Amino acid sequence: MPQAKRGLTPNPHTASRRKFLRQLAMLAPAAALAPGMLATTGCKVELGNEDTGIQSSSDAVIVIGAGIAGLAAARQARQRGYTPIVFEGSNRLGGRILTDRTSITGAVLEQGAQWIHNAGGTQPLSQLFTLANITGTFNTDFTNLSLYDAAGVAVSGGTQTTYQANYAQLLSTTVPGAATATRSVRDALQVANPSVLTDALMRYYLTTGAERDLGGSIESLASQHINSIARYPGTTETLPTGGWDALITYLAQGLDIRLNQRVTKIDTSRLNQAEVTTADGKLHYARFVIITVPLGVLKQDASSTNHITFNPELPTGKRDAIARARMGNTNRIFLKYGSQFWPATHCIGYASALTEAKGKFPLFINHNMFAPGTNVLSTFALGQYGAAIEARTNDQVAADVTAYLRSLYGTGVPSPTTTVVTRWGQNPWSFGSSPYYNTGLAPQDIDIIRDGSGTRLRFAGDHCRKDYLGTAHGAYLSGVDAALGLPIL
Ligand SMILES: Cc1cc2nc3c(=O)[nH]c(=O)nc-3n(C[C@H](O)[C@H](O)[C@H](O)COP(=O)(O)OP(=O)(O)OC[C@H]3O[C@@H](n4cnc5c(N)ncnc54)[C@H](O)[C@@H]3O)c2cc1C
Repeated sequence: MPQAKRGLTPNPHTASRRKFLRQLAMLAPAAALAPGMLATTGCKVELGNEDTGIQSSSDAVIVIGAGIAGLAAARQARQRGYTPIVFEGSNRLGGRILTDRTSITGAVLEQGAQWIHNAGGTQPLSQLFTLANITGTFNTDFTNLSLYDAAGVAVSGGTQTTYQANYAQLLSTTVPGAATATRSVRDALQVANPSVLTDALMRYYLTTGAERDLGGSIESLASQHINSIARYPGTTETLPTGGWDALITYLAQGLDIRLNQRVTKIDTSRLNQAEVTTADGKLHYARFVIITVPLGVLKQDASSTNHITFNPELPTGKRDAIARARMGNTNRIFLKYGSQFWPATHCIGYASALTEAKGKFPLFINHNMFAPGTNVLSTFALGQYGAAIEARTNDQVAADVTAYLRSLYGTGVPSPTTTVVTRWGQNPWSFGSSPYYNTGLAPQDIDIIRDGSGTRLRFAGDHCRKDYLGTAHGAYLSGVDAALGLPIL
């Protein structure tokens, strides 16, 4: 029998009296309560919860998830006078911000978010990094590129410029011009300009552009919403060289965060308070619950290891919108070498033959540009290949990458000494990398998924901002939004 049930049911009379007192306290002004019945602190009504030891009070907010959205929500709630407690299911902070300092000695590997998109100025994460006094940045110039065609021959700067302009044209005009509600980007191109789909070099631009940037394959990206993601005015793609984890540490300062607390049930059926159950069977009470688990978790059914039951069930419209939305599956591969055998450009691009899988290692990031001497290259498994790579072992992936690099730099290319492969699709805390505008999903769906008004439940996370869908800054802003939506105490 689960622990909470044991704790709640030894004496039905006592249990229902406690329940009654909690209900009373949440409804009644503190002054109206009989002295001694409940402890009061200022205007707060403290409700001792003998079952769990966790206090539930009229200013209590439970935040589910300690990713950037959850931390932002908790900080904002605290600023508004609430007492937030963050329940995090895994054993660490940060969620899909995951700075790996151990897999390759001396190197900082960002397994999740890496770039502050359109950094500087009003970009909220740029502002936060500055506020937190976290220094050390590098602006990746994706046009500082050694690009090779399928035969391993360098593509000239002039050809690159032409293709970049053509690619920009495809996204700004061709795809929107052929867009319908059900057409993917690929299908729109098939209708409007099919020759680009059989051009290996253009496939490179579509993959490293749309698929990397937006997080879905061109077969599933919605043509109608190819330009629905808003951009800040900044023009740089900036990576914090010291690691994103410094930002997470900063945001977590002073918060009450409980790790290894997987939430299994959220009950908002009572008038007076919300009830959250954790995997250990314990019950926790709060006035509001802000749920920031990823879309991938919201999509899980009861057979999953990380399914959350809602009571009452989420409204049909919201469940339908969640079902329509999809997680992308971008994966990253980090490779450590004894020395640098590649050119000293920011990036290396490989427009592989059309017979190769699309999305398979099209772009390499040269870590020596921002972490000199580490001799690390990282690459991507994008779009449909992002899911495919998860079935391969690290050794197989290392062999695949080596074969690619040998076709560019010759048979002398060594095997990497260490290979790190992310597998976000299999990650039970996210079930994917990030949401994107897939065919069938509309911006209004994001509003529906986010909407929690009128209940004790609020939603946040990178699936809750239609303008900055699937980004760390969108996640941050969504957390702030959710807490700002709580009534002022
Ligand atoms: C490979 C990759 C590259 C990316 N690159 C970039 C980039 O360069 N720039 C950018 O802006 N964005 C990038 N992103 C997206 C960015 O990382 C995410 O948008 C952002 O981190 C999401 O934050 P979040 O708080 O919404 O979700 P998360 O960070 O996923 O946090 C949710 C938390 O909920 C927890 N949780 C899940 N289930 C439960 C449960 N049942 N009970 C309790 N806790 C639970 C999870 O463990 C997690 O800690 C990238 C993502 C990936 C995966």
